[in-house]
Amino acid sequence: MLIAPGESPDDIARPRTLARLVHEVRRAEHMGVPIVPVGARYALARPHASRGLQLRTDGLRRRLGDRARERRDEWVERDLFRCEAGATVEAINERLAARGLALPTMGAFARQTIGGAVATSTHGSGLSSGPMCDMVVSAEIVTGGGLALRVEPTDGPTDPARFSSDRCDLIQDDTIFHSVVAGLGAAGALYSVTLRVVPDEVLEETRTLTTFEELRARLMSRAFVRTFRDLAVLVNPHERGGRHAASVTAISTATDPHAARRGRPRHNLVPRLLEGIPFGAYAAAFLKHRPGSAPVAIDAALSALRGQRVIGRTAEVLAATPLNETVKAHAVELAFPLADVVSATDAVFALAREEARRGRYLTAPMTIRFQGASKHLLSPQYDRETATLELIVLDGTGDEERLLAPYVDLLASLGGRVHFGLSLPRRASSQRLLANIPALELWRRTVEALDPRRTFVHRLVREAGLR
Ligand SMILES: Cc1cc2nc3c(=O)[nH]c(=O)nc-3n(C[C@H](O)[C@H](O)[C@H](O)COP(=O)(O)OP(=O)(O)OC[C@H]3O[C@@H](n4cnc5c(N)ncnc54)[C@H](O)[C@@H]3O)c2cc1C
Repeated sequence: MLIAPGESPDDIARPRTLARLVHEVRRAEHMGVPIVPVGARYALARPHASRGLQLRTDGLRRRLGDRARERRDEWVERDLFRCEAGATVEAINERLAARGLALPTMGAFARQTIGGAVATSTHGSGLSSGPMCDMVVSAEIVTGGGLALRVEPTDGPTDPARFSSDRCDLIQDDTIFHSVVAGLGAAGALYSVTLRVVPDEVLEETRTLTTFEELRARLMSRAFVRTFRDLAVLVNPHERGGRHAASVTAISTATDPHAARRGRPRHNLVPRLLEGIPFGAYAAAFLKHRPGSAPVAIDAALSALRGQRVIGRTAEVLAATPLNETVKAHAVELAFPLADVVSATDAVFALAREEARRGRYLTAPMTIRFQGASKHLLSPQYDRETATLELIVLDGTGDEERLLAPYVDLLASLGGRVHFGLSLPRRASSQRLLANIPALELWRRTVEALDPRRTFVHRLVREAGLR
């Protein structure tokens, strides 16, 4: 489909080179319309539904040379992977696996573009890694006026003395780098990224059925969360029999590293399909008429995950959730300091009880995930180890935004930082959300200087009140 429902861009451009990307930015400025860089269009807040020039990156998917000759001596031996911003995470995973390498972290599915994933601070679940934007060590971006820049941290890989400036200018500045990479496309269009990568390994994932009440004390312990390479908890936000059912997914290096080589990764597709959005379109239709069944249905979905064991290569295990395109959902996620994970979850439980009395139910398990600190100013993980709480309502259950808005308001009032790559209920108080982004003013000043004509102020940026 060329244009998704609700989209009405003034024009669509599909640049295939950096020079063409520069040209399109200048053309939009000449037309006097905003630009929205667009990846695979999975962001649930639908930034791509912006007016203006939609800059699709599906023509920018190539792997690029890693510019080793331009690197500082101390960077020469490091494993880096450079590609255009429209490459999908799935395609990058395949390329890397063929060389015995892997991304250190990724979201639970892999069809996003790397540009979209880093721009929204997409993350996995493990304290050993920050969000995906923190894998980026260098990026090429086209900002206001069609200015092409290679941006890096101050100690980034490029040696200024070896840099060849024919295509773009080099900026090595921590604040600029950490403003534009996870910048929601509000600071410019990413043309390419250079990623830090790690040796591929065989991972083992286990799932255990428990209750949040049993987990409570362990989740408050940083040592427990750190025990695993990755750890995620799915919880029924609704209580049954005084308890909240939970499923714990723990991922560690496999004890038998040869197991995965003997065959395909071992996992049962049915519970995988159920994960996160557990009942499919039929369940959504059912729950629309019988919303009070949600607590039982969520418990059943969590039970189906019991005892699952997955063994496979890094990407096979970390991004193993198949995307069921028939199931649509609204999902919001807010991020908290690690130490607040239990109190924030308890607050969700209390609100879920109140809402249930009014006949309003969340219709999927909530997800609790963990990430290391990020250096990126707009990232929900900025400057602190983080626990994220994701709340999901299946589409078709009625008024999804109205169901989620009180949870966003509650979690924002507790200091939660919102994930802009998921849904953003319009009625949620944006001022409260903005107040929870500690480096917002520095980010704004930095981005305004790069885009003084406000060419990259697209719909999501405006609606979120970011610029
Ligand atoms: C089924 C599903 C599962 C998900 N799982 C996770 C998860 O596990 N963890 C998690 O954190 N998130 C998750 N997300 C959120 C998802 O990772 C983000 O929405 C991501 O941004 C989608 O990438 P995309 O290529 O579709 O980007 P788009 O939706 O096209 O764009 C998202 C944003 O990035 C900007 N952008 C895109 N490309 C560029 C570029 N080249 N330069 C500058 N800006 C750009 C856009 O302007 C926009 O603001 C999930 C979403 C879905 C639908």
